[in-house]
Amino acid sequence: MTLSCPIVRDLLPLYAENMTSAESREAVEAHLKTCPACRKALAELQTGIDVPRTVIAAQLQRIRRVLRLRWLRGVLLAACIALAAAFCVMEVLQRPYYLPCPDDLRVTENETGIYFVTDAVCDGWVSQISPEADGGYVVFLSLENTRLSAGRIALKGEPHYLVKWRVNAHGNGKTYSRDELRAIYYSPNDGHTDAVLLWGTPVADGVQSLPRLALTYYLLIAVALAVLFGVLALVFRRERRLSRIMLCVALAPLSFCIAVLATRGFETATYSLTQELPLIGWASLALYAAALLAMGLIWERKA
Ligand SMILES: [Zn+2]
Repeated sequence: MTLSCPIVRDLLPLYAENMTSAESREAVEAHLKTCPACRKALAELQTGIDVPRTVIAAQLQRIRRVLRLRWLRGVLLAACIALAAAFCVMEVLQRPYYLPCPDDLRVTENETGIYFVTDAVCDGWVSQISPEADGGYVVFLSLENTRLSAGRIALKGEPHYLVKWRVNAHGNGKTYSRDELRAIYYSPNDGHTDAVLLWGTPVADGVQSLPRLALTYYLLIAVALAVLFGVLALVFRRERRLSRIMLCVALAPLSFCIAVLATRGFETATYSLTQELPLIGWASLALYAAALLAMGLIWERKA
């Protein structure tokens, strides 16, 4: 049976899908052997069938990859937020709070130095030696607890040295002589209670040790930077790339602000900055990572 081109063309889709009878198949194949035009039509038909399939498969794979990546970023985002929260909680738990002067606290001296004795229980004690404007030194003593482990150490009436006299110093660090030491105070470090004189002669009229304001300054600088880069992001909003870079920069100081406010509220004056700053820093970093991941997800959704 010989077929004409139009009939073969009609049969080709069925032939390509292998849905013809054996007889038609033979006839089509016989025609194809002699007709390059129909062979070409068949080839076009077959690639026409195959291409969309591979395209769909590739698209499905890409969608799956995108979804997996988005899921991974979501998990990472949640982890960063959890980490930031954990650092903030740690900061609050580890931050020292100072005890009022224990009633039994007294300062005694011997030939080796000057020490304090008390039966109080605390997490630790800090003594700060500060020079006076008109010469000599004043020592400030504070007992501290943390919320994590309040009352870890019993001081049990044992001597705890505040200053060792020069005669006994072994050459490490600064040493002091008895004539240089003017007074020893207990400071509750609460910013409003006067320090209690424990030893020596009172300095001026009432002594109060003041908190450090460095954290306040850092916070103000961070707010200024966040606002500056936020405004720049807004100004350059037509240039999407530049605007996004500005926004990413602005998120860094903003993360620091959030970490400070989350741990300290608006009470940023602190007596224990060096203890607190590392944890606040780690919390800020985790928050910054979370913010960048969140921005990435938002921008992707927009696109
Ligand atoms: Zn033909």
